[in-house]
Amino acid sequence: MTLIVQKYGGSSMGSIERIAHVARKVLAASQQQPTVVVVSAMQGETDRLLHLAKGLSERPNGRELDALLASGEQASSALLAIALNGLGAKARCYNGAQVPILTDNVHTKASIEEIPPENILNDLKAGYIVVVAGFQGVNEHGHVTTLGRGGSDTTAVALAGALKAKECQIYTDVAGVYTTDPRIVPQARLLSQITFEEMLEMASLGAKVLQIHSVELAGRYQVPLRVLSTFEEGAGTLIALEERLMKHSVVSGIAFNRDEARVSILGVADRPGMGAELLGSVSQLNIDVDMIVQNPSIAGTTDLTFTVHKNDYNTVMEVLQGKAQTLRAREVRGDARVAKISLVGAGMRSHPGVATQMFEVLGQEGINIQLVSTSEIKISVLVDEKYLELGVRALHAAFGLENEPNQEYLSR
Ligand code: ASP
Ligand code: MG
Repeated sequence: MTLIVQKYGGSSMGSIERIAHVARKVLAASQQQPTVVVVSAMQGETDRLLHLAKGLSERPNGRELDALLASGEQASSALLAIALNGLGAKARCYNGAQVPILTDNVHTKASIEEIPPENILNDLKAGYIVVVAGFQGVNEHGHVTTLGRGGSDTTAVALAGALKAKECQIYTDVAGVYTTDPRIVPQARLLSQITFEEMLEMASLGAKVLQIHSVELAGRYQVPLRVLSTFEEGAGTLIALEERLMKHSVVSGIAFNRDEARVSILGVADRPGMGAELLGSVSQLNIDVDMIVQNPSIAGTTDLTFTVHKNDYNTVMEVLQGKAQTLRAREVRGDARVAKISLVGAGMRSHPGVATQMFEVLGQEGINIQLVSTSEIKISVLVDEKYLELGVRALHAAFGLENEPNQEYLSR
């Protein structure tokens, strides 16, 4: 059976009128092919429920919190099925346990382990539209679990994988994935397609359209994902394996992150294990380190620089100052007013010279590059926060991202 999975987020389900609108879209889709719909809670509902719980207890028990939070999606899925039935369609809602969506036992952050597809497939065969409550599952003890904030995307992708859907469509309040944030670059273009890897880089770098985990999952199951708007017509952005995509530019998008802070420990003894000791003292506190640069040693000492989230800046500076004393390092320095700009593109693999062009463009704008890190499909630079917008705009223009790509690059 070729079927599709559609997922509607909280804003798409935000009111009775919106749910009625979603019902009409789902009905139209279901006339083309069997359709499974995953829904989020109505906008603001999960926050409202969390707030109620916090009003009664500082640290609510995970099992009870999950029972509470899952109710938001249970309600919205039932409402959508009711709306569909009202339009004369056959529709049935399912909560996580009814599907069943089997998860591990980690309350409030459970992972999906298995989705036996029979119940849903039987309903589809009988001509039903199946509406599934997102964000939730059931564990081996029969207890309700939830998948973490934004988890309905994960539900949709996992279901699409389990049902071998031909596409998983994520409906949201934006038209798709853009070359960069249109609030910063008005010429930002809607991407018709992007690879899973590129999307992961874009998502983790701040283009928050999809829950990152759901993109990883879609890549693993090889489920093509499409992000599109609930409110406007349009094909949105297809996220798929590189082999499946056609036209492509070398640079697909520019992501950026204002939340980074830079810290350095200077003049520290250059010996095996030093890096582990320094970074270990930070990761011990569950603080993530992003970019890392170590200078070649001079006279047996070296400098280590890395970036952390701005919120962790003060903590990390204190930790390093302590370390600097015990390790007799020369000095600790830091700057929380920095930002990261990243060029992302699967085409970089086969096109050298992107970094050079990037540095030239920034140089021409008088923007100094503080740190650089690269992967096969990404180049990131750290710059003074006040040049972030200028840098992103200049790069967007220089790499011609406002234009639809017309050349195919040969991958690998
Ligand atoms: N309702 C949940 C949340 O707000 C899950 C979701 O919307 O995906 O995080
Ligand atoms: Mg969401």
